Amino acid sequence: MQIIHRVSISSTPEIRSELAAMGVVVGASGLVTFEVDESFDAWPALQQWIARRGAVDIVSTKFSKKELGDARWFALEPDWHHGYPQPDEGRLGYREATFEVSDFCEQCGIGLKQKAPFQMKSEPKWGRNGILQLHWVFDEFFVMPEVWRTVFHPNGIGCRPVLDAKGAELKTVVQLVVREEVGVGVEGLTAERCARCGRVKFLPVTRGAFPPPANEPSVRMVKTREYFGSGASAHRRVLVSQDVVQALAAEKVRGASVRPIAVRLDRG
Ligand SMILES: [Zn+2]
Repeated sequence: MQIIHRVSISSTPEIRSELAAMGVVVGASGLVTFEVDESFDAWPALQQWIARRGAVDIVSTKFSKKELGDARWFALEPDWHHGYPQPDEGRLGYREATFEVSDFCEQCGIGLKQKAPFQMKSEPKWGRNGILQLHWVFDEFFVMPEVWRTVFHPNGIGCRPVLDAKGAELKTVVQLVVREEVGVGVEGLTAERCARCGRVKFLPVTRGAFPPPANEPSVRMVKTREYFGSGASAHRRVLVSQDVVQALAAEKVRGASVRPIAVRLDRG
């Protein structure tokens, strides 16, 4: 696997020469962006430089074909977010319309339980994509009905309708229903305990593999019992089995990527 950093900073002659000394060539003015792999010799020095200079650093991981082929479980990650949950998006009206909020904590974002269908403004503008996430709702995936029928239904995954804000059922989108939860290994993750409700969430996993579940799920799509996020945002990660990933690839569904899970379950 390759861990890649996309680094951006507003350049000056001084910054240009500091970077050149580490083997990175950029312009002397304006916003410059470069990509660097952690296996690069000067990475440790560059990492300190990024922190010292306050450069923007966006990390991503490229997995090899073998790593992807060997993994039995994956975290499903959206490539895009489309639209906002309704109604009354200026006042986050979707929360009370869609969720049971008695256990919800506004400070950390933990504790929403879905009680009603999601509402969207209108039919999604899918473009070439077949799976999406809404803004703000990072633990639910929505698909075209055709994608549900060809990919998810054969893998035992259910769906539920999505409505417009007037209550009419949308025709080109359904929500995937994920019922089972599984605990994952949290060693090495950064935990944050909410000062208000005392519950814990973890910083999202943005580099490397996703931690493994404690036991083999009995279905092919699950959510983590643990919450991830920062500030007032919290979500559970959605995990899918290799069968689902293969079906997504076979149907050439665009709109989401997968992050392999670290350890093969059968080794535990
Ligand atoms: Zn809380």
